[in-house]
Amino acid sequence: MLLIQNGTLLDPYTGADRRADILVGDDGIIHRIGDRLDVPAGAQTADISGCTVSPGLVDVHVHFRDPGQTEKEDIHTGTAAAIAGGYTTVVCMANTRPVCDSLQTLEYVQDKAAREPINVLQACAVTRGLKGRELTDFAALHAAGCPGFTDDGINLTSGRLCLEAMRRAKALGVPLSFHEEDPAFVLSPGVNYGSPAAEHFSVLGAMPVSEEAMVARDIELALQTGARVAFQHISSARSVALIREGKARGADIHAEATPHHLSLTQEDVLTHGTNARMNPPLRTEADRQALIAGLIDGTIDLIATDHAPHTAEQKNQPFAAALSGIIGLETAFSVCNTALVQTGRLTPMQLLRAMSRNPAQFYGLTGKAVREGSRAELMVADWNAPVCYQTYQSKSANSPFTGMPLRGRVRGIVCGSYSTL
Ligand SMILES: [Zn+2]
Repeated sequence: MLLIQNGTLLDPYTGADRRADILVGDDGIIHRIGDRLDVPAGAQTADISGCTVSPGLVDVHVHFRDPGQTEKEDIHTGTAAAIAGGYTTVVCMANTRPVCDSLQTLEYVQDKAAREPINVLQACAVTRGLKGRELTDFAALHAAGCPGFTDDGINLTSGRLCLEAMRRAKALGVPLSFHEEDPAFVLSPGVNYGSPAAEHFSVLGAMPVSEEAMVARDIELALQTGARVAFQHISSARSVALIREGKARGADIHAEATPHHLSLTQEDVLTHGTNARMNPPLRTEADRQALIAGLIDGTIDLIATDHAPHTAEQKNQPFAAALSGIIGLETAFSVCNTALVQTGRLTPMQLLRAMSRNPAQFYGLTGKAVREGSRAELMVADWNAPVCYQTYQSKSANSPFTGMPLRGRVRGIVCGSYSTL
């Protein structure tokens, strides 16, 4: 038994914001929640004075590179990074090697994930081999436990195939997540078109219309089909406006923003170089402000890290030759707290909605509220503690946030009978 004492319960499901002790049984179930609970005989205690206790964070967009690129990350080290970051549930993307488009690969990941103490779910590809030509067997993969489908990393360029994917997903009641970047307008990836960094690194860059054109198309298709669709890592102000309008028209659409798109701009690429190279790229301060406004009014529902480990060798390249993507699980809470809560733009409860409740609800994951009788899936955080990340649990260290003074530290998690408190 574990008695978590003297914390503030902050629960975006119930709206609870009050002092509470929480007793977790050896069965991993929350047995009691009360103002001041007596310590049962034999119970361990964790004094979390000054900290909040909330539902564990949920990340719908991570790359654990397993199978196939385990020099960058594997399911165990990715999970360790998630735990350090306060996450109790993550959803892995399908661009592994081989691509997760078959029962065999799905089962490989599920077997490894079952040995980890948190919920590691595996999404499957929309198209075989991420090639954009032939749909995978949604029904069989969904029946085997795949929570949703995505070709993340690659745009689904064929509108006809996208329409068919939405029809099938709607019939099965599973969500789709789309990486929206029409390659026609990605003149070179990883940096904003026309930005000072593009000029500095002598590359052309990716135009915002690459994202906006696909978002506009897929809103229409979502309206046509009734499919549940998430737009991944939205980066442009115009995309936010399109999504706001699409939601008002009744589309079952959702939008992710990453901690980096919410906190950095194209100017930061000059400072951080390839550790600020990602797809879609960091854009302007006006775009960043539009993302934050979208988060405040609910147009952007989800904060997802797009945790994308790469080796130092793959990042220590000339800008044009480096790979895109950064890690994010371990710094996400601190970065978002620093950029959004400490600046007064979001309340802690609003941040927890975007990092915990909404991502769980997108995938229909239930039972995540902090309630007596529910499984304990908790994050304990000190929102005011100064932090500065130098090392990571992840196998990779490709992050622009290394060495940056931030505020807000994850003190630990509880997931069932597992605890790092
Ligand atoms: Zn992506």
